Amino acid sequence: MTLPDARSLGENANASGLSPQRRSEVLQRLLVESRPYYPRLLFSFLLGALAGLAPLTYAYASGNLIGLVATPTPNATLIFWLIIVAIFLANVVTYVASYGQGYLTAWSGQRMIASYRVRLFERVLRLPLPEYDRWRPGELIARFTNDLALMTDAASISLPQLFQTIVTFVGSLVGLIITDWRLTLFLFIFAPAVHFAVASFTRLIGASTHRAQERIADVAARLSEVLHAERVVKAFGREKYEVARFTDINENFFGASMKVVQLGQTQISVVAMIIAVAFLAIIVFSASEVHGGHMQTTQVVRFWSLVILAVNPLNRFATYVSDLSKGLIGASRVFEILDLPVETDSVDVQPMPERIAGTIDFEHVTFAYRPGGAPVLNDLCAHFSAGDTVAIVGPSGAGKTTIVNLVPRFYSPQSGRVTIDGVNVARLPLHELRAAIAIVPQEPVLFSGSIAENIRYGRLDATQAEIEAAAREANAEEFIRDLPDGYHTTVGERGVRLSGGQRQRIAIARAVLRDPRILILDEATSALDSHSERLIEAAFVRLLAGRTTLIVAHRLSTIRRASKILYIEEGRLIEMGPHEELLARKGAYARLYAAQFVS
Ligand code: ADP
Repeated sequence: MTLPDARSLGENANASGLSPQRRSEVLQRLLVESRPYYPRLLFSFLLGALAGLAPLTYAYASGNLIGLVATPTPNATLIFWLIIVAIFLANVVTYVASYGQGYLTAWSGQRMIASYRVRLFERVLRLPLPEYDRWRPGELIARFTNDLALMTDAASISLPQLFQTIVTFVGSLVGLIITDWRLTLFLFIFAPAVHFAVASFTRLIGASTHRAQERIADVAARLSEVLHAERVVKAFGREKYEVARFTDINENFFGASMKVVQLGQTQISVVAMIIAVAFLAIIVFSASEVHGGHMQTTQVVRFWSLVILAVNPLNRFATYVSDLSKGLIGASRVFEILDLPVETDSVDVQPMPERIAGTIDFEHVTFAYRPGGAPVLNDLCAHFSAGDTVAIVGPSGAGKTTIVNLVPRFYSPQSGRVTIDGVNVARLPLHELRAAIAIVPQEPVLFSGSIAENIRYGRLDATQAEIEAAAREANAEEFIRDLPDGYHTTVGERGVRLSGGQRQRIAIARAVLRDPRILILDEATSALDSHSERLIEAAFVRLLAGRTTLIVAHRLSTIRRASKILYIEEGRLIEMGPHEELLARKGAYARLYAAQFVS
């Protein structure tokens, strides 16, 4: 089975970051979905306000300290120490409140992100296969890793800090106006320039971040593809070639992320320059005010401390805003997946019959993987009685796997219908439909875990005795007993490696546990050693008994045993009937038989 070219679905907005409309949609959704955390967030913002306002004490205290030194006052020493204690307490309040705020906001953010992670996982598992086929696995993984990480940074660092920064800024501004509104007004002449610089850079940084996220998704996609094909790479000696290709993709990502860094740094420098000019202007202005006797030293010091408090966070302000925009981009990409359709039961779903017999009918089935694409199955009609063993044969790419894929409704035909016991599979409850079917794939997949757990995948409530009975049925018992820990031996990624034949038998044991009415076997094309072959065949024969079985068949023995052979070419049913009958017909099947099986 081949997949179509995976297309990059990274952007439902466009390459230039998020459109304003998408941005507000994402924000709104985050606000709505964070509703359960509102009480915590409210408390956290109160703490943030405290942490943001406490530093104002320094500005006032330092002004007063200078005043104390400049003009002799009674009780000067006592006042001096009181001020020092006040500064100390303000520090304590700042840090404690800031800790509390940071913790609570991060907690809420992380909780939300943890739930997004699970929702993403569930959504990906429930995607209809036509939708799933459009994605590169690495790209889906990137949504879990990079995009959720962007959201995490935004929620746990930038959001709390930004809030504090804003509070400090507004507080200082009020202090400035109270201290000397004319000087403050002077400051405002520079505000539009700062705003303009911050806004334009934020937009540019947003667009570059979006591009960088796409490039890192490319890296992840390539990585996952190559890691899955490690053996092929080795076999063809393509290590250098792959490293070169990976280097290209990696360089693209490097370039894209450096663009983000470049813009971020330029933004900081530009804003700092504007601020430096503003400072110089205020120095000149305030010097002339003191000189003219309109301002006192205490006021000048306070004013300056407040200016520093107000301006200091401006640079970080830009960083936080850009981190939050990155977080929004991450959120948008996460939502994109969460909004994909899931497999659902049809609206006119009808209950699954208590005990299905297993008759399967294909009625004028036409199917294309892509809507509007060339049909892979063309007006296919076939009837399989309950208990039939059907071998589907034909050249590679003819549509054999596609036929069996329609029975568990992995895909749905564009026209015509597939029925089980006369009921359209599209109207059966998906979960129960699939519960009635067992599939033994060409390349059985084992999960990391014990052999017993892997067999139990067929039916989660199976007892150990049932698992062992299934293994016996599948002719797997012997080799399992020979493994170091028997049924508890770990297999999969970190466990023992099993041979192709052994994996097949585990897959058969899984199917036995399911005790399905309908069985689908995708026969391995590669030949196994004759001992394994015999064991598997014997297990198959036991498994087939009394069930309707569709086999994508490659072995002569299977084909011969089948009660019916479906000969397919280019998605069309060419011939159908038992082996002997088809041979006698001397048609397409007889030619295939002569070419493949008669030497
Ligand atoms: P067979 O099992 O006979 O080798 P398949 O049923 O796997 O053939 O494939 C039939 C045709 O459908 C082939 O042209 C194949 O490229 C295409 N095809 C198979 N799976 C998919 C898929 N998931 N998406 C798009 N095209 C597919």
